[in-house]
Amino acid sequence: MSSSNTSFNELDDIYQDIILDHYRHPRNKAKMPDPDLVSRGFNPFCGDEVILMIKLSTENQINTISFTGQGCSISQASASILTELIKGKHIKETMEISNMFRNLVKGLSIGDEELDKLGELEALKGVSKFPVRIKCALLPWSTLEDAISTNKAS
Ligand code: ZN
Repeated sequence: MSSSNTSFNELDDIYQDIILDHYRHPRNKAKMPDPDLVSRGFNPFCGDEVILMIKLSTENQINTISFTGQGCSISQASASILTELIKGKHIKETMEISNMFRNLVKGLSIGDEELDKLGELEALKGVSKFPVRIKCALLPWSTLEDAISTNKAS
C-alpha cells in the first residue's frame, strides 16, 4: 500500500485512523448523473484533484452529494467527510462549516459548539502543523465554495 503517511506520525493515532478509514473506504465516491452543481478543484502542490457533484432540493439544501478524484490521504479523506457532513444541510450552513473548518486547519482556536458541528473534520486539525498540507485539507471545501458561488441564480 502507500507509505505517504509517515509524515503524519505526529498526529494522534485516533485521528490518523479516521483519516485512513475515509481514505481507504471513501463515502459517496461516485459519479452523479445530471447534477445541479459541479465543480473541480486541483491542488498543484500535491497533485490532488476533487470533483464535487451536488443535487439541490427546492429549498437550497444539499439533497445528494458525491465526489470523485484522486490524491493524498488528507485531501481525499477531507472530501469523504465533507460529503457525509453537509448532506441535507442548507447551502448557507455549509458555508458556515467551511469557514469554521478553515479556522481549524489554520490553527485558530474555535469553540466547543463549533467543534461539535465539524464532526469528524476535527481529525484533520493536525494539518495546522504542516502548512503545505493545509491546501490538501481545504481543497474539497474550496471546491464546494466554487460550486455554490456559481449558483447565484437562486
Ligand atoms: Zn495533498
